[in-house]
Amino acid sequence: MSIPTPPPPEHNVTGIDLADRSHLRYTGPLIDIHAHVMVTRPGDPKTGPPAGKGPGASSEQAETMLTVAEEFHIARTYSMCLPDDIPVLRQRFGDRLGFNGSIAKKKANDPDDEAYRLLERFLELGIEIVKLWSAPRGRERGLTVDAPWRKEAVRRARAAGVRIVMVHVADPDVWFRTVYADTAKYGTKPQQYEPLEQMLQEFPDLRWIGAHMGGDIEHPDHLEELLQRYPHLYLDTSATKWIVRETSPRAAAVRSLICRYPGRFLFGSDLVTRHGLPRDHYVSRYWCQRTLWESAWEGRSPIADPDYTPGENEATTPILRGLHLPDEVLRQVYYENARRLLETSLAGVKTPPPNPLP
Ligand SMILES: [Zn+2]
Repeated sequence: MSIPTPPPPEHNVTGIDLADRSHLRYTGPLIDIHAHVMVTRPGDPKTGPPAGKGPGASSEQAETMLTVAEEFHIARTYSMCLPDDIPVLRQRFGDRLGFNGSIAKKKANDPDDEAYRLLERFLELGIEIVKLWSAPRGRERGLTVDAPWRKEAVRRARAAGVRIVMVHVADPDVWFRTVYADTAKYGTKPQQYEPLEQMLQEFPDLRWIGAHMGGDIEHPDHLEELLQRYPHLYLDTSATKWIVRETSPRAAAVRSLICRYPGRFLFGSDLVTRHGLPRDHYVSRYWCQRTLWESAWEGRSPIADPDYTPGENEATTPILRGLHLPDEVLRQVYYENARRLLETSLAGVKTPPPNPLP
């Protein structure tokens, strides 16, 4: 009787040797500015935020992820997690983590005070960044980036000493043809940037990080326009599948953009700890991110990507085409830019700041 072979794991469908990192040439430290290191629980949903309660809570996945991070020379990881997770994680991992507080309301008609109380808790716990998650699918819950309660939260965070705001606007172009095809409900992709620009103009004294390459890696010319117009805007490289899929076909344009604005990009993984994930899940994201930016490696991405439509007789995952960024650019993107930004953010934070980075 033949035993059916199990399907390949999502983190390595091409079966490459993720332990082979001989093509990675950068030897300095990195800061991961965008990750979700959380306490995990057996009943957590597969996507979306964790339930936050329940038996079996564990920081083992966080331990696994941060051990892998260390292998990839990540000196500090900035995590978005529930406020309750922060003391637990800080106790166990100390300076290896910094925190970013995501300011949201559960339902559109929840009172604004709920968001302010959440911010207050985060501030007491010593966050250094606030996050405004404003993907089109959050519109129904009132999570627009320029909602009055969010403006007020940003003002209060600023008054408490926070200097960095991370925003998630838009989503991949392909989603605007599928999940967001109803533009009356979600708006067009260009329309997602109107409230962001409004906020950039209203808060020029803060540093803004556009998560996932500003949400528009498909249009490097648009990103350039934003970087030009808003000198306080930065872009993080997080969301591995999306960024690999859409950077590779326009590798030359993206490389040229980063090289012309080397001070404006920040390394991020968007890794999320989830109960029961294998170690190689974490490896795959760091491996692809670093391969993309620092090497000339070219081949099929090892990670399964449901947003990629292969051509006939084509492999199921998109091409990953390494940009081989110059050493000096890498050093800035991987480390210096984040270090500089974070340094300016620490004044006024109530909890003692983490020890200086290497
Ligand atoms: Zn994220």
